[in-house]
Amino acid sequence: MRPNTQASKHRSSHDTEREFGGALGAICIPIFLPLTVLFLICMSRSPHASVLQWPPPLPSSDELWDPMAPVLLLGWIALHALLYLTPLGKVSEGLVLRDGTRLKYPINGFHGLCISGVLLMLFLGLGSPLGHLFELLLPLAVCAIVVSFLLSVYLYVRSFWAPPHALALGGNTGNPLYDFFIGRELNPRIGNFDLKYFCELRPGLIGWVVINLGMLMKEVELRGSPSLAMILVNSFQLLYVADALWNEEAVLTTMDIVHDGFGFMLVFGDLAWVPFTYGLQAVFLVVHPQALSSLGAATIIALNGIGYYIFRKSNSQKNQFRRDPTHPSVARLETIATATGKRLLVSGWWGLVRHPNYLGDLLMALAWSLPCGFSHLLPYFYVIYFTVLLIHREARDERHCQAKYGLAWDAYCRRVPYRIFPYIY
Ligand code: NDP
Repeated sequence: MRPNTQASKHRSSHDTEREFGGALGAICIPIFLPLTVLFLICMSRSPHASVLQWPPPLPSSDELWDPMAPVLLLGWIALHALLYLTPLGKVSEGLVLRDGTRLKYPINGFHGLCISGVLLMLFLGLGSPLGHLFELLLPLAVCAIVVSFLLSVYLYVRSFWAPPHALALGGNTGNPLYDFFIGRELNPRIGNFDLKYFCELRPGLIGWVVINLGMLMKEVELRGSPSLAMILVNSFQLLYVADALWNEEAVLTTMDIVHDGFGFMLVFGDLAWVPFTYGLQAVFLVVHPQALSSLGAATIIALNGIGYYIFRKSNSQKNQFRRDPTHPSVARLETIATATGKRLLVSGWWGLVRHPNYLGDLLMALAWSLPCGFSHLLPYFYVIYFTVLLIHREARDERHCQAKYGLAWDAYCRRVPYRIFPYIY
């Protein structure tokens, strides 16, 4: 294959806007974040689990490598690729692309979760094989990082054969490091197999709950039964993942699918960062058991419930409104017109704050950490990181919306002054 001339022509008119610290960020983040993943796993499993521990508990090379790890990881990705291709569930169309077409996506991620869960039970059962994931965590994370780099290189190279309209706006600056990091091609596909959509919610997200289950089984192996804290962490995070897959169609309207190219940032996030850092609480609990009172557990369950309710209701309201503004559940909401023809909700959940879905997500994140008690900062890593991520993401989205909607967006901001936390931020 040879890069087509249209694409070459497009490359001469490079996009200039850069995010995540531009070229410097694109050099530092791919070095810093993989090391952070390994560091956090080591810390969570160390008896001190202190982020201030110096020198940090460095792993030996033996701990970083296990021949089982690549077999398991690649087998897991291949299993989900097969499940993606099975003709289960419906097929849905994405939003209209710049060339006026719409891509088709299989909505069968929830089937993937259920079938891979059943297969795991059939072949491994519940017990020591899953508990062994505790020992395999570091080698698996190393393999996921290597796979992320290899896939990102492939995506970067193949993007030079993509037609200009298939490139992400913002992923074509001409700086190879930045474009590799941020992603050049918007929807890279092999035939009908959409690589970004596949990675977004399947191997990593489902892998995360399997790792959690492995930690629960390790606890059973060590102490005879799972603790209440471990059960809560597993249940809350399983609910979150199952919800994402049940509502898989909603991902088709998110920034990741609609706006961002598929490069290292998303590949690494999907395949390494999410499965190996989002469930650190479960890893921590294996080594640092916590006693949780019934009242404490009930309070945490209530917090997770409230967060989930806000998160689900607000996301569903906007998705429904974007798909069909005349639907009875949203038709009576107050809106303002924009010059693009699209309207913005100014009442209902989206009249409370400008990102009610982020508020709900953050309340849940806090509920996931609280079962780990207050003796260590480490299990609060997710909620701290996620607050920073969502504040940054909100600012990015705000810039995109201001560029899209101009004066109408300013009017919305005046009408709904708080971004995420009512009366605070
Ligand atoms: P959002 O679902 O928040 O979508 C933002 C878009 O919604 C805007 O670009 C705009 O797009 C539209 N919009 C904004 N305000 C209004 C309004 N008042 N009325 C109508 N439409 C409006 O985007 P995200 O992808 O950031 O988040 C989706 C979910 O995923 C969230 O719940 C978030 O918490 C979660 N998430 C989780 C992550 C994780 O790692 N766990 C990471 C990132 C997100 P347009 O007008 O073009 O439709």
